[in-house]
Amino acid sequence: MLRTTMLAAARSSAVRRLVEANPLTRTVVDRFVAGSDTSAAIGVTGRLADKGLHVTLDHLGEDTTDARQANETVLAYQGLLSELRRAGLAHRAEVSVKLSAVGQQLAADGEKIALDNARRICESAAEAGTTVTLDMEDHTTTDTTLRTLSDLRVDFPWVGAVLQAYLHRTEQDCRDLANEGSRVRLCKGAYSEPASVAFQDKHEVDRSYVRCLRALMNGQGYPMVATHDPRMVRIASELAGSAGRAKESYEFQMLYGIRPGEQQRMAENGDRLRVYVPYGQEWYGYFMRRLAERPANIGFFLRSLLTR
Ligand SMILES: Cc1cc2nc3c(=O)[nH]c(=O)nc-3n(C[C@H](O)[C@H](O)[C@H](O)COP(=O)(O)OP(=O)(O)OC[C@H]3O[C@@H](n4cnc5c(N)ncnc54)[C@H](O)[C@@H]3O)c2cc1C
Repeated sequence: MLRTTMLAAARSSAVRRLVEANPLTRTVVDRFVAGSDTSAAIGVTGRLADKGLHVTLDHLGEDTTDARQANETVLAYQGLLSELRRAGLAHRAEVSVKLSAVGQQLAADGEKIALDNARRICESAAEAGTTVTLDMEDHTTTDTTLRTLSDLRVDFPWVGAVLQAYLHRTEQDCRDLANEGSRVRLCKGAYSEPASVAFQDKHEVDRSYVRCLRALMNGQGYPMVATHDPRMVRIASELAGSAGRAKESYEFQMLYGIRPGEQQRMAENGDRLRVYVPYGQEWYGYFMRRLAERPANIGFFLRSLLTR
């Protein structure tokens, strides 16, 4: 109930104005968002890389309905990628892209515009010597995103995608994508989805996550296990072991600001751990999804507003 309300608020412009106008929100946002510009993002990436962590950077923004804004997002990614290269960080950091930020929702030709824009980002990533992963948004975009993935992979076979275990379809999607060279980030899923397409019960989502993990670990691709759930991390390690996988043939991923001690511990233990680092000014939707995920995050947010 709370989660559904928070996720509805994530798409409400009235709530958005209220949350953004509160000067104290920023202190809480800073826990989850690396800063508002490229230089802040590069600074955080450098610090995480020094600790032996890998990074994927997300230039915040989504649901763009303006072609000019979509183009600016592409330029921001291109600038970021050239800075990563210049700072010698491209071997440690890649980028994550939401297709809705680069035009997927535009009324005329959205899918084609997003594909062309994503291609420009992939060209810059190739020049920098790193990779791109396509984030997954709500279920109405899954087919389009997977089509775009398949088009991009013709020229850039290293482009990865996210699959969400809460969707009924995802176990089959995992099997379809578990082939040589295919990078799949498996997460539980962060949007409010109807029962017709998604498991509603947390235990059912967890069971689906394990079935999807099994398909990915037993396949030929490169699984990226995106979860903070200690049980899922343990099961992923066991499945990787029984599939005879070397540690370099898969990785774990967690969000910036969530379980940082565990991120460090896993990296020191020899696991490849990648931190998803969002940055930029459009933090509202991302921030609200983090609050929706965990009542403790809302408590943390409210406490920090009240104790100031
Ligand atoms: C790298 C990455 C990329 C992602 N990309 C996408 C995407 O493209 N599309 C999408 O829909 N979603 C994405 N997500 C979000 C994801 O779908 C989940 O909403 C989010 O990760 C929470 O699920 P969870 O697996 O961590 O487990 P949950 O079921 O939320 O939590 C399970 C357990 O994990 C531990 N835990 C969780 N959060 C915390 C915390 N803050 N502090 C301490 N312990 C905690 C607790 O033990 C908890 O009981 C991404 C997540 C990651 C990590």
